[in-house]
Amino acid sequence: MAIPSIRFCRTLVSSSNSFRPFSSPDSPHSRSRSTFVECSHRSMEESTVIEPQSPENCRTRWKPLCLYHTQGKCTKIRDPLHLEKFSHSCAVDLAESVSGSRNVSEQEFDYLLVLDLEGKLEILEFPVLLFDTKALQVVDVFHRFVRPTRMSERRTAEYIEGKYGKFGVDRVWHDTAIHFSDVIEQFECWLRKERHGGGQIVLLGEDGDQRLNKAAFVTCGNWDLKTKIPQQCLVSGISLPPLFMEWINIKDIFLNFYNKRAPGMVSMMRELRIPPEGSHHLGIDDSKNIARILLRLLSDGARLQITARRASPRSAPTFLFLNRGRKRWLIPTKGGSFTSDIFPVGSHITR
Ligand SMILES: [Zn+2]
Repeated sequence: MAIPSIRFCRTLVSSSNSFRPFSSPDSPHSRSRSTFVECSHRSMEESTVIEPQSPENCRTRWKPLCLYHTQGKCTKIRDPLHLEKFSHSCAVDLAESVSGSRNVSEQEFDYLLVLDLEGKLEILEFPVLLFDTKALQVVDVFHRFVRPTRMSERRTAEYIEGKYGKFGVDRVWHDTAIHFSDVIEQFECWLRKERHGGGQIVLLGEDGDQRLNKAAFVTCGNWDLKTKIPQQCLVSGISLPPLFMEWINIKDIFLNFYNKRAPGMVSMMRELRIPPEGSHHLGIDDSKNIARILLRLLSDGARLQITARRASPRSAPTFLFLNRGRKRWLIPTKGGSFTSDIFPVGSHITR
């Protein structure tokens, strides 16, 4: 059976045009925010359709994730009413993603860092799931909303309303977003936490080269680490941390392992018959869905290897896989340009 492009599997309420599965939690801080929640819930009821609660679309009672909690900022963790309304578990339901074969290969990396940035003009969301390749599960989460560096407050408010308003998480964004340089500092601290698993593991070395230890980033496409993080570092006035200089593009792994095209996350999930969950283009949800694809690849026997690497922070990345995801290339010529399915060998144009 074909899977719809987005299926909100554990939701009780949905709309054909917009859906608010992550309506903001009651603010731990102010009354005005509670008012916003009431308004937001009222508008949701007016504009949405109640779906019948069949076993298929209501496996368990779904609760929106507390996005204050994912960022370590929930102050209502002992409030029974808050706990009744919002989930505080970052565990990813991976049950439907495990293949029957369980033919897991020996992996080069003990941990994979699933990253899916959001934000076109500047980064707005930085979610990372820590995936343990032996336990085959997500064991930790780092999630921050990011405040733009070079945008006026008015422009930022418009940008956030357009991007996150439809998910109902614009208020939590405003309450929690911090600048990119602070996100990177906190992320590096998080990587340096001591972790148990075959001995004490620290994911970021202290030996000066600042590379990842026994871990690698997994992204859906090359954009996140090839383009966006270097761009944001420039805008934020920091140098590119070496830990971002290599990554695994899950589309390249998918294409080479299954020998099937992998134009995007939703199409890969459709191909693997894994139902997507949450809101597409909410970074924390997209990261969870990428983790589901990752688990299927691992349990089917794929080896996760680095697919792109830079020699230095300023050099262009080298792509290491011969078979790479196809896209239409815009080839500049003297008289204009033309598009091609074939990457022009020897050209300076890169993805
Ligand atoms: Zn909470």
